[in-house]
Amino acid sequence: MPCSYRAYEIRARQALVPSRLPEYDYALNPYAGCSHACIYCYAADLTRGPPGSAWGEVVYVKKNVPELLKREVRRLAPGVVGLSTVTDPYQPAEREYMLARASLEVLAGAGFRVSIQTKSDLVLRDLDVIVKYRHAVDVGFTITSLGERASAAEPCAPSPLARARAAEILVGRGVRVWIFLGPIIPGYNDSARELGGVIALARRIGAELVYDRYRATPRAGARLRAALGAGEPSPEWWRRVRREVEVLCAREGARCRSMEEEWGLARRDSKRASGGPA
Ligand code: SF4
Repeated sequence: MPCSYRAYEIRARQALVPSRLPEYDYALNPYAGCSHACIYCYAADLTRGPPGSAWGEVVYVKKNVPELLKREVRRLAPGVVGLSTVTDPYQPAEREYMLARASLEVLAGAGFRVSIQTKSDLVLRDLDVIVKYRHAVDVGFTITSLGERASAAEPCAPSPLARARAAEILVGRGVRVWIFLGPIIPGYNDSARELGGVIALARRIGAELVYDRYRATPRAGARLRAALGAGEPSPEWWRRVRREVEVLCAREGARCRSMEEEWGLARRDSKRASGGPA
């Protein structure tokens, strides 16, 4: 996969939007689309590029996000902002546009909490801002696998080891860091070896581990089956995998929590998509 993308600069009408995820009050997505091009990404079903473009080839850059934010933080109640929920805020376009950095400064400076989720070690560029506001900022790194198949599932994202190194550096600077082991996908990363590798990593660097299963969305599901031969996530499969994760976490002494349990998704049998940002 070539991993090149076209960036289109656009102007957004609003920066902060109410979050549909229970752990956030607001969502902030400075970009639409994501050139990391993960094949399981549910955002592919939510973000359409120009006709004929493939997921990851087009990124819309909301250039006016910092100026919008400066106005919005004056009238909105401070809360927790998810950066981001349908894109990776530290994808390659961020090198040039620096919208995540500017957003972080505006939000944390105005008393908002910011929860970053990324697959990129580019977040270390903003170490100064993150450390300055570490009382109000946490950073999550998604690591689905430390094995060879990660490059097939996440073809244009920095390597899992680069993410792990970045996570370790942030932990060393006193930042709250979590590793997101998700989505857990049948036939891709649901073996004890795969799960155990990421759980051991989280424990070793001193990060909390959050895990979640894959819930299929139409476009991402089709890509997954074609590229990884992934199976269907049945309730029986998930019961088995959850048990495995719990055993591995206990064995490792890792701090683990299930996102599903936290959100009450198991009880509601929610159709909420899972398997994406960032
Ligand atoms: S899963 Fe995250 S990093 Fe991957 S393409 Fe989607 S938004 Fe980007």
